[in-house]
Amino acid sequence: MPGFEIFGDEERREVQEVLDTGVLFRYGFDGARKGRWKAKEFEAALARRMGVGYSHLCSSGTAALSIALAACGIGAGDEVVVPPFTFVATVEAVIMAGAVPVFSELDDTLCLDPDALPSVFTDRTRAVIPVHMCGAQARIDRIRDICDRHGLVLIEDACQAIGGTLNGKPLGTFGRMGCFSFDAVKTITCGEGGAVITDEKDLYRRADAYADHGHDHVGSDRGAEEHEFLGGNFRISELNAAVGLAQLRKLEGILETQRSTKKAIKAALAQCPSVSFRHIPDEAGDSATFLTFLLPDEAAAREKSAALAAAGVDGCFYWYANNWHYIRQWEHLRQLKGAARLPVQLLEHCPDYSAVHLPRSDALMARAISMLIKLSWTEAEIEARIQAMVKALQD
Ligand SMILES: *Cc1c(COP(=O)(O)O)cnc(C)c1O
Repeated sequence: MPGFEIFGDEERREVQEVLDTGVLFRYGFDGARKGRWKAKEFEAALARRMGVGYSHLCSSGTAALSIALAACGIGAGDEVVVPPFTFVATVEAVIMAGAVPVFSELDDTLCLDPDALPSVFTDRTRAVIPVHMCGAQARIDRIRDICDRHGLVLIEDACQAIGGTLNGKPLGTFGRMGCFSFDAVKTITCGEGGAVITDEKDLYRRADAYADHGHDHVGSDRGAEEHEFLGGNFRISELNAAVGLAQLRKLEGILETQRSTKKAIKAALAQCPSVSFRHIPDEAGDSATFLTFLLPDEAAAREKSAALAAAGVDGCFYWYANNWHYIRQWEHLRQLKGAARLPVQLLEHCPDYSAVHLPRSDALMARAISMLIKLSWTEAEIEARIQAMVKALQD
């Protein structure tokens, strides 16, 4: 998964070019920067790679989600449907927007179940944010149909799935906006960074302004720029953008390595009678950052999770029992603990998050273990891992 495993001279050269100019800001300083515009260059390359009209680079994946919500006009009191299996940032972005996260069930993709969505819609529902978790697709084509039919905004959280596709179409391009993260452990990294992509010029314009205090970025005098609305500071620095630019050029190689490693391990595990796999709607479009497999029940998953750790198979996550990616252990969310009073707490329709009941998601997540696919593994290490895993997972 992590692009930091393959840092090299490419990243160093890009960063050095920025340092040589002394201009770390992505806007202005036209003379001093000697034609070096790392953020702009990254945006153009990302939009080209994704086959969309526009991309805006920002400070994190969380920022990208906030920007997408703002650009799409989602705000105070609006209900936004999210999955219970994600990084909590998806939920935080909705709360920070003053909107209301509403949880819906997962299906066998371990992403939002399209068929379950209508049952959580109300007349306040404005948007759905599916998350392509652990590198592979949600049934995003079906989710899009449902959003279209109900007049809802679709925003994709593709923070873990850059380079993934469904039937050849890049993840992040199904919704009105797609969000990516380039944090320190993502497939490609800026250190800290993120991006939104869209085909709609007006959404791009709003995103670009919101991420920089509402600046319209027209002309070359920052002090003379107009502001259509208030925004914030979600900007990326040129140093971070420079690292990401070099990383983006490595994406195809990263995907190729992940896919071949995952294929070998998956084929071996398929021989274990008690092991099944997360459903992947389009195997060829899996970005293959993780291999997620299921055991027959919770007891078996707990036992095998411990057996894998005991056998020295690192990088395996049993999300159901850790504090990380599943709602069950998110006490801060369940108690709705903000640093101060949150806008959602002023609303009459504020849900009781401690009472969120998702039995089908629980039943799936209780059985699931995900293993990170690393880029730096040698052939011999992959072979040793396969042997250790098969032994630990044998009945
Ligand atoms: C990493 C991640 C984010 C947030 O990205 P940051 O850059 O760390 O803010 C959001 N959603 C998902 C699914 C993620 O994995």
